[in-house]
Amino acid sequence: MSDAVYRDAPVFVAGHRGMAGSAIVRRLAALGYRRILTAPRSELDLADQAAVRGYLQRQQPAAVVLAAARVGGIQANNNYPADFIAENLQIELNVIDGAHRAGVQRLLFLGSSCIYPRLAPQPMREDALLTGLLEPTNEPYAVAKIAGIKLCESFNRQHGRDYRSVMPTNLYGPGDNFHPEDSHVIPGLMRRFHEAAQRGDAEVVVWGSGTPMREFLHVDDMAAASVHVMNLPRDTWQAHTQPMLSHLNVGTGVDCSIRELAEAVARVTGFRGRLVWDASKPDGAPRKLMDVSRLAALGWKASITLEEGLRDTYAWFRAHAAEIRG
Ligand code: GDP
Repeated sequence: MSDAVYRDAPVFVAGHRGMAGSAIVRRLAALGYRRILTAPRSELDLADQAAVRGYLQRQQPAAVVLAAARVGGIQANNNYPADFIAENLQIELNVIDGAHRAGVQRLLFLGSSCIYPRLAPQPMREDALLTGLLEPTNEPYAVAKIAGIKLCESFNRQHGRDYRSVMPTNLYGPGDNFHPEDSHVIPGLMRRFHEAAQRGDAEVVVWGSGTPMREFLHVDDMAAASVHVMNLPRDTWQAHTQPMLSHLNVGTGVDCSIRELAEAVARVTGFRGRLVWDASKPDGAPRKLMDVSRLAALGWKASITLEEGLRDTYAWFRAHAAEIRG
């Protein structure tokens, strides 16, 4: 018998305005889900425990996807560590505990590849969690995401819930945050290169040394993987993740250097000038490549190449340039 969440069952997507949540809503809609529940911040503040409990009690979703989070790039994590740990802990506790109180049996929590130790063996396997020190530039965020995994695990152990966690690698795509300082590397560079190409600048500044290695996953691939995982039969999921692991890596299994990435973004945006490396900016972790063999064994692999994904993201950026700058 299939354990899939039925297409006419209500599914609550927390964080539907964000890049990850909006991609999950698109994916569910494309698969024919008819009752996708979303709540704008003006109606439901996920940091308000009583409001979240009340909402989940009233709506009685069959499943919850927790895609809401305070996210940002290396510099935002460095500048606002209190916001990154406190807001994420609040959201996770309210939604996961609130789902349990409302009797929700299935939940999917979105984490991040930064939960793994800074110097974890590469590619990073799920069992590298909590085996070493974290990368200091995003430790508060990572601690909050680890707490989310452990919340899910603990509700499963104590209350027999079926709360699953996916750890996507660095995400990018339509709906990303293109803020010049606070964004992740792809939208940050895309905007800078685009503006430099338009002005005809001779050079563009890129942060760090260019040597760190990163794996990038298009958000539509992430959404497809997430819904796939949400719908796996419980026995299949447990056979690949239990006893003590309730989280699963989601990535492409392929990485590239920040220098190679910058060159690809230059190609896509039409910037033909020079790259200048700003060594005063942090590099972050030297490498973050996911081992995706468990996900492959569960029947899913990524299909969008970095080049295709960058073109698609750039098309979205150009179509939304006015509101992004506004
Ligand atoms: P991280 O994976 O948590 O380090 O997240 P980021 O996406 O913020 O940064 C990835 C890497 O890209 C780091 O080594 C940064 O130093 C480098 N990088 C180069 N230029 C930029 C930029 O303009 N913005 C950001 N966020 N990172 C950049």
